[in-house]
Amino acid sequence: MPDFNSFNFSGHKALVRVDFNVPLDADFNITDDTRMRAAVPTIQKIRKDGGSVILMSHLGRPKSGPEDKFSLRHLVPHLAQLLGCPVKFATDCIGEPAISAASSLKAGGVLLLENLRFHPEETKGDEDFAGQLSSLGDVYVNDAFGTAHRAHASTAIIAGFYPADRKMFGLLMDAEIKNADKVLHQAEQPFTAILGGAKVSDKILIIENLMERVQHLIIGGGMAYTFLKAQGKEIGASLCEEDKLDVAKEILEKAAKKNIGLLLPVDSVIADKFAADAQTKQVNNDHIPAGWMGLDIGEQSIAEFSRTILASKTILWNGPMGVFEMKPFQNGTKAIAEAVAKATKAGSFSLVGGGDSVAAVNQFGLEKEVSYVSTGGGAMLEYFEGKELPGIAAIDQ
Ligand code: AMP
Repeated sequence: MPDFNSFNFSGHKALVRVDFNVPLDADFNITDDTRMRAAVPTIQKIRKDGGSVILMSHLGRPKSGPEDKFSLRHLVPHLAQLLGCPVKFATDCIGEPAISAASSLKAGGVLLLENLRFHPEETKGDEDFAGQLSSLGDVYVNDAFGTAHRAHASTAIIAGFYPADRKMFGLLMDAEIKNADKVLHQAEQPFTAILGGAKVSDKILIIENLMERVQHLIIGGGMAYTFLKAQGKEIGASLCEEDKLDVAKEILEKAAKKNIGLLLPVDSVIADKFAADAQTKQVNNDHIPAGWMGLDIGEQSIAEFSRTILASKTILWNGPMGVFEMKPFQNGTKAIAEAVAKATKAGSFSLVGGGDSVAAVNQFGLEKEVSYVSTGGGAMLEYFEGKELPGIAAIDQ
């Protein structure tokens, strides 16, 4: 595979798979353009070389065929502003609109194709559809780490239509893989993984893979209560996956056997209902009263977790410590974000990934204070589960 930076795109039409799956409000304003900004360096390098850029992406989950609310045309003005150049738009990603717009593209020009998922063939990984896409550009660049875990037409199947010296990762994809590998394969010890969020079931595989690598495993958020219940504690009305109690027990036993410091919260901010205006109090996790639910980690947990984080050389964080979207329950996530930032300042390597922890880091203005913020939610989780991602494997063979 050619190295993106060393490849001279002059005279080439680069077909670039980006992840422009950005959130839009009711008036089609982009409410978070992180993913678009993340693709800018790749686009600009191709243009600077004298190549032209054909961008393809999905947006949302259209059910069957085109739907205006999922049209990528809503992104054109903002993309043009980010790039400082006009952006052409093709009303379909294949067929006449795409072919004529792509063929009239001049050096340095940028074309955005309509939503790939307006064709069900995209998610089905259809060969013929991938072939039609591939005819638009003579070089294929995959810069969509966020969809690298999908074997879709534009993320994986399409690579088969290009010779080895005409397909490569873009700068974002490359950075995502390098930073993830640094944590997975070259972690300086002590390595601490912090896992949170709502569901244990989503995180079992990542926990199992990380247990082969970490010295400390911090578990917070809603998922912690299944572990606490597995230890025999009364968790009141807190989140619990009853069918995962056995798995939680096994994880606790395995961690003890492997001498991994598995930290669970010792106290919680509890609430009498799942709402921002709930009554709240802070209690020890041995005594969560019936009817009350733990919605954040408490002060003592914050202190213990922070101590471990500050003593770590490598930190991986996925998932919030509480319901940080509601002000009364954001303290734990904020404090952990601050501890990760502090450890980073002191020289540790920190990687934050997964939609909600990234949103939290952004919300607290700490995104520049950690070593790397991953743009991939599901893809990042699967990579850390140790799985081969189809979007990576298709190019990197
Ligand atoms: P996940 O998608 O599994 O990473 O979970 C993220 C979600 O977990 C966020 O929306 C949080 O509000 C939620 N969450 C975190 N802690 C708790 C908790 N203690 N109880 C209920 N939900 C929680």
